[in-house]
Amino acid sequence: METTEKKHVHPCFDESAKHSHARVHLPVAPKCNIQCNYCNRKYDCVNETRPGVTSSVLAPFQAADYLKALDAKLDNLSVVGIAGPGDPFANPEETLETMRSVKSIFPDKIFCLSTNGLDLEPYIDEIAELGVSHVTITINAIDPTISAKIYKWIRYNKHVYRGLEGARILLERQLTCIPLLKAKGITVKINSIIIPGINEDHIPEVARKCAELGADVINCIPLIPTAETGFADTPKPDSKMIFKTRTLASEHLKLMSHCARCRADAAGLLGQDLEGTHALLKEYASR
Ligand code: SF4
Ligand code: SF4
Repeated sequence: METTEKKHVHPCFDESAKHSHARVHLPVAPKCNIQCNYCNRKYDCVNETRPGVTSSVLAPFQAADYLKALDAKLDNLSVVGIAGPGDPFANPEETLETMRSVKSIFPDKIFCLSTNGLDLEPYIDEIAELGVSHVTITINAIDPTISAKIYKWIRYNKHVYRGLEGARILLERQLTCIPLLKAKGITVKINSIIIPGINEDHIPEVARKCAELGADVINCIPLIPTAETGFADTPKPDSKMIFKTRTLASEHLKLMSHCARCRADAAGLLGQDLEGTHALLKEYASR
């Protein structure tokens, strides 16, 4: 049930809340405007826990009803977020319509968006007005020669760009957004995927640059090598590499190290999704 007396806390930004405050990702954004070489959104396996996976996609009107049903089942649903399964701003109508209806029903929840940042800038005023207080931008490199190995293509203003050209555009768009979000009082988290042999030594530089622009926290996430992607055969980063990357990055930015690498349809406490979520999601997706 919605309650106003309980203080909402974001469990991703405050580790002490991870066992007490729930979050839900509303999977309303299926398309993406870039292709990361580690991403495969083809599968909808209910047992697979990684970003980009959802068992169903919801239309905005379905999302609002689904959220009401979830809120009745969850004890302390604090955060409503959109994290794909594609990118929120490759689906701006769906994203904004969903946020508007969520805000009208649950005005005091924390609103959170996770994006690659390419098409975020035109929507910053509107999301701030809608009360979005937390935005995550995934920035894996600030050197376009490194980014060019991570992104297969980007689509910007209806053109597809590859290689260095695409990497430069993406980076410029991402870095532009950080101070604009901060000027609206929005908390900015940077996600960086640790990709062995590609960017593990470079992520501290990402942290340094993003800190300079005003970002608040960095989340260095180990690569999940995924079938049918450019990094399918790349080994997972070992614990030594993860520790070193995070330690060096934390010299510049506050570190988040409890990320559960959630699905695009995650619902519940971090790492402990509510039982029956997939069936509920399917039910609302078919209404
Ligand atoms: Fe996948 Fe997200 Fe990259 Fe798009 S931005 S390709 S959804 S990981
Ligand atoms: Fe939080 Fe990480 Fe899950 Fe996103 S993927 S909701 S940052 S724990």
